[in-house]
Amino acid sequence: MKILIATGNKHKFKEIMDLLPRKTKTGEKIEYVSLEDIGGLKLPAETGQTLTENAEIKAIYAAQESGLPAISDDTGLEVEFLDGKPGVHTARYAGEHADAAENNRKLLNELEGLFLGKRAARFRTVACLATPQGKVVSFEGALDGFIGFGYRGENGFGYDPIFIVAGTRKTLAEMTEKEKNAISHRGQAFKQLAAHLQVVGK
Ligand code: IMP
Repeated sequence: MKILIATGNKHKFKEIMDLLPRKTKTGEKIEYVSLEDIGGLKLPAETGQTLTENAEIKAIYAAQESGLPAISDDTGLEVEFLDGKPGVHTARYAGEHADAAENNRKLLNELEGLFLGKRAARFRTVACLATPQGKVVSFEGALDGFIGFGYRGENGFGYDPIFIVAGTRKTLAEMTEKEKNAISHRGQAFKQLAAHLQVVGK
């Protein structure tokens, strides 16, 4: 069976594929294809009010357009002091076309002067699987931590260099990909989706 991983981000395509099974429990092979593989399908805008709505908008559209079961996800960073912001606006926190450096800088500025206990934050990911027949399931993962006082580490992407993982002294950017996948919001959401995929494979 073929499954579409509906993300425009190559880094995420690989990260998600690495978290998913290659076979169903009945031994059927699962082949993962990208948006590029099916001719460059463009995903709709993330107009939902919640991560779940956004993940579902993308997965449902991709499944309908491609005729394949499709997987999509949406991630948000929720900062306690900012009443859960940036949340669904995480990708465009510092503006519509802001890059990671601009988003990180804005967040560090907003928290300037606050001690660590006031810098609690949580990454949340919703991973969604939709079929062309209209079945939709979603799974959620979360990772607690703190926004640091500056940048540390070279790995990962996005907010990784300023996100200190609770119970460790490391930012996500100071972890290897394997370490991050084992604990991350996306890792946890996709592990549940992986278990579901193994069982539902026909
Ligand atoms: P998306 O929903 O995966 O596109 O992510 C939304 C925003 O969150 C983007 O700005 C990403 O850079 C950021 N983001 C998503 N996942 C992570 C992560 O694992 N670490 C750091 N930033 C992330």
